[in-house]
Amino acid sequence: MISLQSDKVLGATIRDLIIPAERVAHVQVKNNLEHALLVLTKTGYTAVPVLDPKYKLHGLVSTTHIMDSILGLERIEFDKLEHMTVEDVMNKELPSLKMNDTVEKGLELLVDHPFVCVQDEDNMFEGILTRRTILDRLHTHFQKNNNEKDLD
Ligand code: AMP
Repeated sequence: MISLQSDKVLGATIRDLIIPAERVAHVQVKNNLEHALLVLTKTGYTAVPVLDPKYKLHGLVSTTHIMDSILGLERIEFDKLEHMTVEDVMNKELPSLKMNDTVEKGLELLVDHPFVCVQDEDNMFEGILTRRTILDRLHTHFQKNNNEKDLD
């Protein structure tokens, strides 16, 4: 039977698993929706964090938010993209983590979200924890565990 050695894996902090802020694609609160759509399309990400110039976290914006906001009754009103800003449509209700939170807490939040933002006490953005990173860590652990069992 596979033992997860839960304390060792789930009790560790997420600190070493996050993608740091400088490697995370983001948009600014005052960017217009045309720019945000360009960033989302070019990166291929479904959603990205919304920051202010001081790197404070304000929300998340996704392609769905943007498309929904320009959906008219009979057509998609593309001309609105230029005049609306990210803060008009972003999602402000988002779960977040702190650097010292455990992998177990991260795993719990990632059940419902493809990634979770990590911020400090002053809401300054520090990076993201993604589903891929957590699954990769658990997969590596299971594999190592299996290999050790085969040697027994
Ligand atoms: P993944 O688990 O790598 O597929 O990532 C899940 C989601 O996390 C993506 O769809 C993006 O919304 C977000 N994401 C992952 N990596 C980045 C990054 N470097 N910059 C911005 N968002 C990211």
